[in-house]
Amino acid sequence: MLYPYVWNGSWSSNFSEGRMIDRCQCCGTCCRKGPPGLHGADASLYSSGVLRKEQLLTLRRGERVYDNVRGRIARLEREMVRIKADSHGGCLFLDQGSNRCAIYASRPVECRALQCWDTTDLMRIYDQDRLTRFDLVAPDTALGEIMQAHEALCGLDGAERLVSRIKQGEEAAFQELGSLLEQDEAMRQGLQEKAKADPEALDFVFGRPLPELLARAGLRVEPGPEGYTLRLAPHS
Ligand code: SF4
Ligand code: SF4
Repeated sequence: MLYPYVWNGSWSSNFSEGRMIDRCQCCGTCCRKGPPGLHGADASLYSSGVLRKEQLLTLRRGERVYDNVRGRIARLEREMVRIKADSHGGCLFLDQGSNRCAIYASRPVECRALQCWDTTDLMRIYDQDRLTRFDLVAPDTALGEIMQAHEALCGLDGAERLVSRIKQGEEAAFQELGSLLEQDEAMRQGLQEKAKADPEALDFVFGRPLPELLARAGLRVEPGPEGYTLRLAPHS
């Protein structure tokens, strides 16, 4: 599954009767279409506790995401942080029953900029000054150092190079990728066991687990008691 990182641009579908609007109807459709990415001005929401690690997701450099403003899959040149989605793919903070935002008074800048009837303001800011993990967690703290070490060991560029070598039939690359998967898993477990980190915070600290990301590159990873089984997806 690909995760949108900006709102869907097809706003005309919001209003089934084709009704024109010029102010927000509080229908919650934009929040249901996906959570917002965070920008520099949103850093204070994290430092003040409005947003917590458990509610955030890091999309890492090299990750493939669906850019539904440009209508194509894009490989991220730079990492970004966004609010997590609920089980329907909408923003975590939306109350489905009332259409209310749980953090409305402190909502992120993308939410403030969005007017579904005129996306000019959103388009102006949505690619600008995107936050990364390291804008929120200083690189010289213990957690910042762990995040950097993980990125250096388990970076997606290296992992995808291994997948390419596997696709070319290189046996040794299977072994190397298996070690990489073990390192990714060990760092996640280590943070939970030694630092008592909330498991919900791991998708912010490390991004999504490597097996999930590799599935998008055409490799199925199945953990087992004796290690990982790696399978190339058909036609990959
Ligand atoms: S801005 Fe969002 S909540 Fe307001 S009317 Fe448009 S889709 Fe609905
Ligand atoms: S933070 Fe609030 S306004 Fe923004 S997408 Fe989520 S529910 Fe909607």
